[in-house]
Amino acid sequence: MQVDFLIIGQGLAGSLLAKELLRRGRTVRVVDDGWKSAASQVAAGLMTPLTGRRFSLTKDYPTLFLCARDHFTPLGVFHPTDVYRLFVDAEQRTRGLKRAECSSCSPFIARITESKGELDPELTDGFGGTLMHGAWVDLPKLLADVRRELQASGCLIEATFEPSEATSAAAGLSWRHNLYGAIVYCDGYKSALRGPFTYLPWQPAKGEVLTLSSDAPQKPYVLNREGWALPMGDGRWRTGTNWQWDQLDETPSRAQQDKLLARFRGYFTSLVQVDVMDHSAGVRPCTADNRPFLGTHPSELHTHIFNGLGPRGTVWAPSLTTQMADYLIEGKALPEELSINRHPPAASGA
Ligand SMILES: Cc1cc2nc3c(=O)[nH]c(=O)nc-3n(C[C@H](O)[C@H](O)[C@H](O)COP(=O)(O)OP(=O)(O)OC[C@H]3O[C@@H](n4cnc5c(N)ncnc54)[C@H](O)[C@@H]3O)c2cc1C
Repeated sequence: MQVDFLIIGQGLAGSLLAKELLRRGRTVRVVDDGWKSAASQVAAGLMTPLTGRRFSLTKDYPTLFLCARDHFTPLGVFHPTDVYRLFVDAEQRTRGLKRAECSSCSPFIARITESKGELDPELTDGFGGTLMHGAWVDLPKLLADVRRELQASGCLIEATFEPSEATSAAAGLSWRHNLYGAIVYCDGYKSALRGPFTYLPWQPAKGEVLTLSSDAPQKPYVLNREGWALPMGDGRWRTGTNWQWDQLDETPSRAQQDKLLARFRGYFTSLVQVDVMDHSAGVRPCTADNRPFLGTHPSELHTHIFNGLGPRGTVWAPSLTTQMADYLIEGKALPEELSINRHPPAASGA
């Protein structure tokens, strides 16, 4: 019997797409290598409206946020939380004040502080900051829950998929003696390294995250300056992260640990004790134009991709899942800015 879709990878993208295709009555198998390289297991899952040094609103954020909230809430993994962005300098404070006046940003801004200690005397917010409405998504729980569902329905294959093992068959592809209507690559940054989609302009970026036990005063919001610190209750924190474009692997480094610890301590006016409970690294599937990669391989008609979520997986994935399922099942066209057709192989030098 032919299965409609073989999904490669059970990270955030593969999990949501598998659920959606099953919901729409399609047969699905998901092959995953035990989250060996899952960025989704490392990510904090933060949804922060205004980001970057320029403190700008992610494109289409209001719509994406509502879609993500509605998608993740019934799954029990959506946690609304405020994010306090501590400004690094006066220029950033000026920018923050401007953003508060902008109609698309202001609904996400709870409060602007202009001087140290206005919000909380225990913080080193020398230039003030912005308290924003955000959220975090419990990605490890989401992945574990979906894995259990897939296992229970016999839809999970625990294995490492090797692209060269998939061969063309009459109406689809054959892999390990089974027939599939189509394959969808949801394998994160691994698609940049091997397989049919290496020709796309990827820009994977490694990042590291610590889980800490600390006597630092717990806060009712995420702290955000350069990186972030997410209070988890009971003296536990998650803190990260950095951007690294070489040594793309899952190996954490001592040097980064020291930097992350110094940054974490730097949020507080008093000296805080920390114990590192966990230190992990992952690679974000980033793309050169900061847009996702959705669509079909130009010469392999049964080979698709749903990837390139970069640093915004939680914000983008729910909305993109619907668009990808509409494309796969109903043949609805993908917008140019999402479709891999914007990068034809010849133009990309492949
Ligand atoms: C340090 C860090 C911090 C981040 N913080 C945030 C954040 O705060 N907010 C946010 O929205 N995003 C964040 N991200 C980005 C987010 O993690 C990604 O956008 C998202 O998780 C990507 O999901 P994915 O399913 O595409 O890839 P992945 O999560 O990488 O999943 C791919 C899956 O495929 C499997 N796989 C790969 N190759 C094979 C193979 N050959 N055979 C079988 N299985 C295979 C992998 O093991 C993995 O399970 C962060 C990322 C990192 C690394």
